[in-house]
Amino acid sequence: MVSQESIDRAKNTEICLNCKNVVIGKGNLNASILFVGEAPGAKEDEQGLPFVGRAGKNLDDLLSKVGLTINDIYVANILKCRPPENRAPLPEEIRAHTPWLVEQIREMKPRVVCSLGNYATKFFLALGNVDLMDKQPGITSVHGKIKMMKFEGLDIKLIPLFHPAAIIYNRALITEWEKDMEIVKKEIAQKTL
Ligand code: URA
Repeated sequence: MVSQESIDRAKNTEICLNCKNVVIGKGNLNASILFVGEAPGAKEDEQGLPFVGRAGKNLDDLLSKVGLTINDIYVANILKCRPPENRAPLPEEIRAHTPWLVEQIREMKPRVVCSLGNYATKFFLALGNVDLMDKQPGITSVHGKIKMMKFEGLDIKLIPLFHPAAIIYNRALITEWEKDMEIVKKEIAQKTL
């Protein structure tokens, strides 16, 4: 159970007071793989579910390529609410929203976390310390590189991936993206999940 304190902390931010729906996550909380994106967009805000827009279509394709469905994973975001005009998350918003995500992680205990894009990747590389996010390497240098870590006392295999929305705007990333998918596929095939 996520604490009311963490829920209230996120819900009291301006973006949450102004959004249509709080987007908590979707998928299977008993799964071993967690995907973490950045923040809900317009479609997600409308429907109250993560990755239901164009980026979501890419994520669905990715999952089917590695033989997974939404029932094999859980998907959440760094922010629970859509920032206006889809602007980048602010540090104080990340600070206020991620205690909720951390509690979801403690409950779910995933073995593999696929961080989608810079914000999620830097959050995990900084072991949840928002002040250290700026000091972390960007997704371009770390995508597809598996990192074993202790996050909140849990042994986690972090697999940073390009954000599925980046593929929409930069088609040149598709080759890299497909290579990274092979890495995810191998991890899953190890049956250590
Ligand atoms: N982009 C994200 O990072 N998350 C979503 O839920 C949708 C788009």
